[in-house]
Amino acid sequence: MPAHSLETDRTSGVAHREHVDLLVVGWGKAGKTLAGTAARKGHRVALIEQSADMIGGSCINVACIPTKILIHDAEQRRGSDDPEEYFARAVSRRDTLTAAMRKNSHSLLDELDSVLLVAGRATFIGECEVQVTGGEERLQISADTVIINTGSHPALPTIDGAQFSGRIHNSKTLQHVSPLPRSLLIVGGGYVGLEFASMFAQYGAEVTVLDRGERPLRNEDTDVAQTAVEVLRGDGITIISGATATAVADGVDRARVTYTVDGQENTAEAEAVLLAMGRAPATKGLGLERAGVRVDDRGYVTVDEHLRTSAPGIYAVGDVNGGPQFTYVSLDDNRIVADHLYGAGLRTTSDRGAVPYTMFLTPPLARVGLSEAAAREQGYDVSVRVKQMADIAGAPRAKIEGDPRGIVKIVVDSATDQVLGAALMHVHSQEVINLVSLAIRHRITASELRDSIYTHPSTTEALNEVLGTLQSN
Ligand SMILES: Cc1cc2nc3c(=O)[nH]c(=O)nc-3n(C[C@H](O)[C@H](O)[C@H](O)COP(=O)(O)OP(=O)(O)OC[C@H]3O[C@@H](n4cnc5c(N)ncnc54)[C@H](O)[C@@H]3O)c2cc1C
Repeated sequence: MPAHSLETDRTSGVAHREHVDLLVVGWGKAGKTLAGTAARKGHRVALIEQSADMIGGSCINVACIPTKILIHDAEQRRGSDDPEEYFARAVSRRDTLTAAMRKNSHSLLDELDSVLLVAGRATFIGECEVQVTGGEERLQISADTVIINTGSHPALPTIDGAQFSGRIHNSKTLQHVSPLPRSLLIVGGGYVGLEFASMFAQYGAEVTVLDRGERPLRNEDTDVAQTAVEVLRGDGITIISGATATAVADGVDRARVTYTVDGQENTAEAEAVLLAMGRAPATKGLGLERAGVRVDDRGYVTVDEHLRTSAPGIYAVGDVNGGPQFTYVSLDDNRIVADHLYGAGLRTTSDRGAVPYTMFLTPPLARVGLSEAAAREQGYDVSVRVKQMADIAGAPRAKIEGDPRGIVKIVVDSATDQVLGAALMHVHSQEVINLVSLAIRHRITASELRDSIYTHPSTTEALNEVLGTLQSN
């Protein structure tokens, strides 16, 4: 537990008061980084976290890191490994590693003298003032500046019987499912749904995905989506498109989902169900109205390009402000607010340019910038460079690693030779995409990327070969 917690700060029921320079509500990526920066500048800081299991925030406890440990271990499984035992060992490794990261995250702030770490749930009671409740204890903290960094949580869909208990899971509870389900039904074909589909199929579960879209991965170009779907189907995953879930029911041995396709009602059963139908902002019960902080119709805090809310002195960072929901975007939110508070105040969300992202399938699908369809829609004269990974003779890395599946697709503006976007699906694409993203941001041309010297054997060198191939105009 935090050193300066409500538990160690007993005040016999009388609310204790504190005033600090900077108050951070929620131990997210942006908030913890800002807390450290402010404290190192000599400011008095308080950081409030409602759960001891969430010290360090979602990324290290329930999201990026634990899921990628489980995905990594799923990829290493050999056919001879007993699925249940192997999965249980992977979950245990996940728990050990996340516990160590939680401890480290706590120490990093705890060792700073001017940081007050508070365990409890915060609610605004006025402008720049919150009440923290932890058990029977109450603490009121006011501040010159407040950072709201409360994150998001799995949305509970409004379908009959929706709940997160028993055999019906969200992305957090499914990470500790025991024993490994022999069958898994996933409602939602977004990145959370498909990452879990890919992972559990490799642990040996029979996986079915119900996706509402006309086709899976509808934001991707058809050739990219088709490659990804072939990979998923090749791993034994069934994807049912155009499927709208209408009800879910838990049972003794299996859970059941009712869904419609083209108006026809169907049911599917499995030992476990994952409802992966989006995220909701953690703003409920935060008393934002008492602080004058406005939210949009989905409950996300509205912010300007410096991440200022409608209330003076209050900023919102990370998932809760409705921006792209990634840890590295939360980290960038921290840069914008730090610049506004302690720097020149020039940095804004509109400076971000091409923000890459990766769907951690096996192999991962990484994307940045415009798809071919979006570029054409925007009126660019587009030249497309595309090759299946298995056909790229000059980049044997994927073959060396035993997984040559995937595609490399780069969308180039014919008029300027600028890279407009890329879709990379292959081993290590989560690394290569950062290079393409940097090229887009710094206006390095497609020809320069094509003619650069890359290490060998690497997956980056696919750019030498693919960018030399002009497919269509
Ligand atoms: C399954 C899954 C996998 C993901 N994988 C990736 C990935 O690979 N890469 C990536 O970049 N992103 C990934 N994400 C997204 C990423 O996890 C989030 O974008 C990121 O963690 C957001 O962090 P944040 O700064 O908004 O706050 P969070 O890290 O969510 O922290 C918010 C904190 O506030 C606390 N809190 C909430 N309300 C209160 C209150 N009233 N009082 C006190 N404390 C409160 C919460 O307990 C929590 O600890 C994934 C998400 C999911 C669900």
